[in-house]
Amino acid sequence: MHLLRGAVRTYAWGSRTAIADFTGRPSPTTHPEAELWFGAHPGDPAWLQTEDGEESLLQAVADDPEGQLGASTIGRFGDTLPFLVKVLAAGEPLSLQAHPSAQQAREGYDREDRLEIPVSAPTRNYRDRSHKPELLVALEQFDALAGFRPVVQTVELMRALAVSDLDPYINLLSDQSDADGLRALFTTWITAPQPDLDVLVPAVLDGAINYIRSGQKTFAAEAKTVLELGERYPGDAGVLAALLLNRISLQSGDGMYIAAGSLHAYLHGIGVEVMANSDNVLRGGLTPKHVDVPELLRVLNFTPTPQDQLRPKIIRDGRERIYKTPASEFAVSVLEVDGDQLGHEIDAPCRHDGPQVLLCTEGAAVVHAKSGTLTLERGSAAWVPADDGPIRLTAQRPTHLFRVTVGL
Ligand SMILES: [Zn+2]
Repeated sequence: MHLLRGAVRTYAWGSRTAIADFTGRPSPTTHPEAELWFGAHPGDPAWLQTEDGEESLLQAVADDPEGQLGASTIGRFGDTLPFLVKVLAAGEPLSLQAHPSAQQAREGYDREDRLEIPVSAPTRNYRDRSHKPELLVALEQFDALAGFRPVVQTVELMRALAVSDLDPYINLLSDQSDADGLRALFTTWITAPQPDLDVLVPAVLDGAINYIRSGQKTFAAEAKTVLELGERYPGDAGVLAALLLNRISLQSGDGMYIAAGSLHAYLHGIGVEVMANSDNVLRGGLTPKHVDVPELLRVLNFTPTPQDQLRPKIIRDGRERIYKTPASEFAVSVLEVDGDQLGHEIDAPCRHDGPQVLLCTEGAAVVHAKSGTLTLERGSAAWVPADDGPIRLTAQRPTHLFRVTVGL
């Protein structure tokens, strides 16, 4: 078991304060920090803090897959860590995107290989052959757009904006209030000629301004988001797409699971994001990056999804809050120590023999593994190899410790 130094990723949409404050470094930072990666991704592995200096987790896994990952993980996923843990800080909205299913990823990767598009090319959609289910757990309020809103509510929202240019689209959805109607409307908007968007998007923004001014509450958050996106990306079809998606506000500890084909855009906030170890993203707008609309349309799931279906079930097992998801690459829980548990040693048995990433998000914990003991404070993480578990912990003050393992 070793402390793990995360790899900081700077992107324009990040924050100069959120990740630095979380990890106890001086802020504001020189560049906006968007993500902190705790994993063995070849693009940016985390670093083990060993007695002999730093060693990349990617190298450690390559040198001793059996000891680091365990036989059962290797049997299921090969010699690589199947998940990636990130702290994600969105100071500004991220692109509108979706991730492929496992089958779509394999087919897409092979197709782009045949077309001889280099894996590192900006126009490449599929950089590996894996799907990318992701779970986000909010560390404070976290706002996002995710999943198509049930159509009846979307029609209500569009009517409430009182924009006559929207009338034909309201009629389209009223006549066909299902996945086919959403597919038809989304496809119309995302492929609309720019001159049409240059009329429709400003009209929708005017509608949003009037709605907010009127003091109405029902769709105030939706209207503000549309306005914010429209100011940042004038004339972008993604602004219209935002009308069709659930506008979600997660509170600290709430989770959101993004399944294959689910259209989403993170808006604001800081959270822990856990995903399969993949880079496969299809973008639909709200970004200067590569957008491939036909490929996005191929992977999108247009089935309307009520908000509560995006939230994973949370079950309690002793001191542990477990976020239930269908992903096999990862399992996520939070060990919570407080009250009369403070000062006592607590068992945190692992449900199988794989590796663990621990990330302290509140308080401080002393972690005991076979190889020894270390202290994790807020913002610090540890890698527990497969052959070093199970773990026990003690805390002197209320503590939250995220634990990510391989899924069952
Ligand atoms: Zn995503």
